[in-house]
Amino acid sequence: MARARRETPGCDRVLHFNNAGAALMPRRVVDAVVAHLHLEADIGGYEAAAQRDAAIEGVYDAAARLLNCERDEIAIIENATRAWDMAFYSLKLGTGDRILTSMAEYASNYIAFLQVARNTGAAVEVIANDEYGQIDVSALESAIDSHVKLIALTHVPTNGGLVNPAAAVGRVARAAGIPYLLDACQSLGQMPVDVQAIGCDMLSATGRKYLRGPRGTGLLFVRRALVERLEPPMLDLHAAEWSARDGYTVRPDARRFENWECHIGGKIGLGVAIDYACELGLEAIGGRVQALAERLRQALGALSGVTVQDLGRERCGIVSFSTDRKKAHAVREALAAQQINVSASPAAWTRLDMTARGLQAVVRASVHYYNTEEEVTRFCAAVEVLASGK
Ligand SMILES: *Cc1c(COP(=O)(O)O)cnc(C)c1O
Repeated sequence: MARARRETPGCDRVLHFNNAGAALMPRRVVDAVVAHLHLEADIGGYEAAAQRDAAIEGVYDAAARLLNCERDEIAIIENATRAWDMAFYSLKLGTGDRILTSMAEYASNYIAFLQVARNTGAAVEVIANDEYGQIDVSALESAIDSHVKLIALTHVPTNGGLVNPAAAVGRVARAAGIPYLLDACQSLGQMPVDVQAIGCDMLSATGRKYLRGPRGTGLLFVRRALVERLEPPMLDLHAAEWSARDGYTVRPDARRFENWECHIGGKIGLGVAIDYACELGLEAIGGRVQALAERLRQALGALSGVTVQDLGRERCGIVSFSTDRKKAHAVREALAAQQINVSASPAAWTRLDMTARGLQAVVRASVHYYNTEEEVTRFCAAVEVLASGK
């Protein structure tokens, strides 16, 4: 951990509890991105890409290692939302088809459900939570019938520490033979995420959050058996070949979900970030993150005027809370003035969950393995002052 801090330039400058927003990049990642920009400036963008071809191809191997899949099941896309969209909008849905999802769903995903429901007559149905606040797997099981064409789950919501039982949902999806799309945007990089153990068919994630990669990077996994059955909603000369005057051939691998032009330096940086996480080990990262977050939850919970808002039986590195005296954005601003970084998560980003709980917004403090116990103490002291109005 001392090593992780030494290798993270931002640790000296800020108390960074905004790892679910964008984590601090390790020096190695920054160096890889910057080196590639310099190479582009020095020898030309196409020439730089050709020279660094092995590193670019290595990103697919790194992602496949991280997720326990094959390299041809990976697409590197500019963010998690567009990765998720490319999978979702490839599904052919029609009147009477049912999409099953959870209370924790992210706004962008739900907006896409609503759009497709409006345009096709498909129905979007939300499975209730169980007593822990996670998706009720037996309710999901009872909802299955031949009209269900997709199960879409958010593994870890944007607004709290809940970890949904992704593998239990996977068993239901597998048994019924229904495609299963997992939004792993907040889980990937902070805990082991194994697509075989989970049993999902499609998975999206971003580079900048717990993976500690550069902004403007994301990835999509699509199981090989499904890739060829999913024609992306948009194609270009990278995703497909113009093979006859009136015909085209879509690529056979998951890169059919990509587009040609991208931020090559960022892509290389993403590969470096993934390798760095694998080197430290996702089990070890998960243990450290969970312990630190639990310590933070306990300490915040002990402060008067502070309410911890996390749901779930299993919880992760995201700690959400509210204070009696100040709104979430005011807490975020007051902390920012002290070089303490958190996010405020508004109701509209996870509307189903927030309105069910009567919450307008929560403060989101998200820890990573490079954060320290001393930072937890300092953070809680700052929150205590704000919460007491001193
Ligand atoms: C942040 C987030 C996203 C979107 O990721 P982008 O890379 O910004 O597109 C998707 N789902 C969840 C749960 C998120 O928290």
